[in-house]
Amino acid sequence: KYGRTFNFSAGPAMMPEPVLEEIAAEVMNYRGSGMSVMEMSHRSKVYQTIIDETEADLRKLMGIPDNYKVLFVQGGGTLQFAMVPMNLMKNGVACYVETGSWSKKAIAEARKYGEVKVVASSADKNFTYVPDCSDLDIPDNADYVYICENETINGTTYTSLPNTKGKILVSDQSSMFLSRPCNVSDYGLIWAGVQKNVGPAGMAVVIVREDLIRDDLADYVPTYMKYKTHADSGSMYNTPNCWAIYCCGKVFKYLMDMGGLEAMNQRNIEKAQVLYDFLDSSKLFKGTVEKEYRSLMNIPFTTGDKEMDADVVAATKAAGYDNLKGHKSVGALRASTYNAMPKEGVEALVDFLSKYEAEHT
Ligand code: PMP
Repeated sequence: KYGRTFNFSAGPAMMPEPVLEEIAAEVMNYRGSGMSVMEMSHRSKVYQTIIDETEADLRKLMGIPDNYKVLFVQGGGTLQFAMVPMNLMKNGVACYVETGSWSKKAIAEARKYGEVKVVASSADKNFTYVPDCSDLDIPDNADYVYICENETINGTTYTSLPNTKGKILVSDQSSMFLSRPCNVSDYGLIWAGVQKNVGPAGMAVVIVREDLIRDDLADYVPTYMKYKTHADSGSMYNTPNCWAIYCCGKVFKYLMDMGGLEAMNQRNIEKAQVLYDFLDSSKLFKGTVEKEYRSLMNIPFTTGDKEMDADVVAATKAAGYDNLKGHKSVGALRASTYNAMPKEGVEALVDFLSKYEAEHT
């Protein structure tokens, strides 16, 4: 109806069409306020209602316990690589699991603030699996154990959470946020950049247990980078990313209307299965991740031939399937199938790939 393509981007990514329609309908005059949310003071009553509802809906959707704070922080996902160690490294020691590009970035950033112990890694097989985290060597003075729960570039996800031996678990859920149910109390802190599964880029949602929010941080820690600053001000210490918060709120309501996170998980399983089944039976294409650790959100695959991979990317784009090129660091192809990608999109892509296969084998 709008001439939209099936956009398989890893992020910013598709948003649900009914949400975009609602946003479009409100863009000139938000519910009789006489202005767009883009033009609205964050200190206005009408905006306060938006942010309050957004937080309340997320709490409902995920079942976030009362002793956790929900923060909306700018700086995207990347700022959290720094904020986590700045705020949580009390003894100056943290354990990280290395599963791919985004955990490597987190490790590099944390090393600026303290000692980082890489307690498990899948580097030996090019990050195509998630290492066994059932018996990690975690020092007594470790402040936390950090994971990237879904590696966007490598396409892996955890099948069970690490045994942290009583230490706090910190998780980067950026590329799987709200794709399935999550037991928040298993974590000390969850954070997610929102531009994959939720809304526009430029913001992270941080869910942090209250007792981990410290007021004894070193003086040089920038005000904006203390979780306490955001917790004490209801994410309104300065002008927040009002627009992103508003759009995320729309998506939270949409997910509740769709039946919540269990329903989304079922849909995501069925949707990813369509592509994985094809890859497993194809003579031309194959998935690059060990079956057990395959992500439902990011599906990397290849023909095994660089030139042919590039040809497939060009052919899919010409046919209306956009952004299937793998990340520049790994190449090949990748289909991201977040919450908003309809199953029909994946079915149509598989149809196209089967035809391509028939013509090229
Ligand atoms: N973590 C993960 C898992 C990601 O996929 C990304 C972005 N692709 C980031 C962190 C960084 O997010 P941002 O670009 O918003 O800084």
